[in-house]
Amino acid sequence: MAKKANSSNHCSFCGRSEQEVNLLISGMTGYICDMCTEQAHEIVNDSFKSSGKSDMDITLSTLPKPAQIKEFLDQYVIKQENAKRFLSVSVYNHYKRILQKNLKDEIEIEKSNIIMVGATGTGKTLLARTIAKLLHVPFTIVDATVLTEAGYVGEDIESILTRLLQVADYDVNAAERGIVFIDEIDKIARKSDNPSITRDVSGEGVQQGLLKLLEGSVVNVPPQGGRKHPEQRMIAVNTKNILFICGGAFDGIEKKIAQRLNTRVVGYAASNDKVNIDRNNLMKYITPLDLKSFGLIPEIIGRLPILTYLEPLDRDALLRILVEPKNSIIKQYQKLFEMDGVTLTFEQEAYEYIVDKAIEFKLGARGLRSIVEAIMIDAMFTLPSEEKKKLHVTHQYALQQLESSDHHHLRVA
Ligand code: ADP
Repeated sequence: MAKKANSSNHCSFCGRSEQEVNLLISGMTGYICDMCTEQAHEIVNDSFKSSGKSDMDITLSTLPKPAQIKEFLDQYVIKQENAKRFLSVSVYNHYKRILQKNLKDEIEIEKSNIIMVGATGTGKTLLARTIAKLLHVPFTIVDATVLTEAGYVGEDIESILTRLLQVADYDVNAAERGIVFIDEIDKIARKSDNPSITRDVSGEGVQQGLLKLLEGSVVNVPPQGGRKHPEQRMIAVNTKNILFICGGAFDGIEKKIAQRLNTRVVGYAASNDKVNIDRNNLMKYITPLDLKSFGLIPEIIGRLPILTYLEPLDRDALLRILVEPKNSIIKQYQKLFEMDGVTLTFEQEAYEYIVDKAIEFKLGARGLRSIVEAIMIDAMFTLPSEEKKKLHVTHQYALQQLESSDHHHLRVA
């Protein structure tokens, strides 16, 4: 261990004495001052950058194992075991592939892009964002609905890589091993099973464009985004090692799954010889075939070999979402009040009331926040200028506040 040197010593790098520096650290045969350590640190960083090893501070031994990645996800995301396991393994393998690339091994590990299917508001984006918190690679979220074929109003497919370059500070090496979450991938599904009726501006053409990125190719990317124009200098980005995670609600896909399973969504199945099918959660039977009948082209499906689903969130899950996650809505409000020296507590019946309202308004997990906000707004307005140091939210209080607030905007038609 390095220890502090005594006063007659000098930095072996710049020659300053201990009096001239903030800190002098002694080594085996000399000393280094705080300023020289900082400079040395910069030099090391710079040389790693130019050799393409920038901020890749992960090795096989420090790499979080899939179980650890999942444990991290568990702190923020309720349920969704299947999606968490697949994501954890996929991200772990992504790192292994990147590390292996440095070793110039002969067996090349191919990447396994992921597709997550599940109703809106069940945690797809939350999973992607939480993964991003843990990562040491550039990460970006893009919305597939804004993508169009080149030449149409909207964004070119290449804009996805522009975003990745931007979060990587234009370090191409770093961007080339980044992760991209493409949301609403279902919105670029072919509108009809008949591919030839009309030109499908935002459908198949975009899928074809996306395919190039998923397959792995060298793409010329406009560094500032926007349309390509001749004067703009392009940056070549190889997408071979970029991990793509896609998400989509695929509204109505349960019907296709049910058809395939030869059963009906409502009512009971006519034949009893089928294995027990959980008709409340048909999503878990999803296969690539269903994605195809929904309108994704087979080539895209082939490039998204890992297919996972998110479960619908029931009342119990919503109750847990309200209080359990590390940054749950309730914990956030408690923090806000704590900053004014106010202790905020809730009775269990108040939680249940909030969840029941979210279900009644058909808002799901996404509605929890706006309902809590409506209940707390009065207290947030008055408490900071009052003496009161405690607020206990009872069922009665929650009901009163929500009824008196103009909460009709919360309802969906
Ligand atoms: P999706 O991308 O599936 O449409 P989101 O991930 O954006 O849904 O979820 C919307 C909000 O609902 C999130 O910000 C989060 O607060 C909450 N939420 C949804 N699902 C979960 C879950 N499984 N665990 C915890 N919170 C969730």
